[in-house]
Amino acid sequence: MNPTHSDLLGPSLPIPVYHAMERWHPERIHAVALYCSDGRWGEAFDEFCHRHLQLPRYDRLALPGGPGWLAGSAEDAGGHVDFLVRAHELERVVLITHYGCAWYGQRLQRSPDECLAAQAEDVQAAATVLHDRFPELRVEAYLAMRRHDWVTFHRLELG
Ligand SMILES: [Zn+2]
Repeated sequence: MNPTHSDLLGPSLPIPVYHAMERWHPERIHAVALYCSDGRWGEAFDEFCHRHLQLPRYDRLALPGGPGWLAGSAEDAGGHVDFLVRAHELERVVLITHYGCAWYGQRLQRSPDECLAAQAEDVQAAATVLHDRFPELRVEAYLAMRRHDWVTFHRLELG
């Protein structure tokens, strides 16, 4: 049987409003970064993962508070992570928390400096959740710091 017109073109769609310069890449990179969704930090996170960690096209999990998501609502978050690890064959997880995160500022009603301890605790708790579920996963954690508009990254030790 000859393929029909719609088989060749896929679903019937309105004409494209934009053609991406970037191509789709079939290979998976087997790594995910979990960080805060605050868009003012997003390009710096991306640069750090690309240039320093050498992770092109890594999977991204961007939520308010970043790793705190995994530390808090363990059941729901755990299901998402289980899916990613299995379906995307993840081997490496990068946790990034950032200085002055509004998610912590609002919940704790504390200054950016005073929130850092809670953020480090959440990063550790997130790493523990991951390690308990997937002992093979390589988990690493960083604090993104800001002075004026300069962003630096600092490794957080995980226990
Ligand atoms: Zn944030």
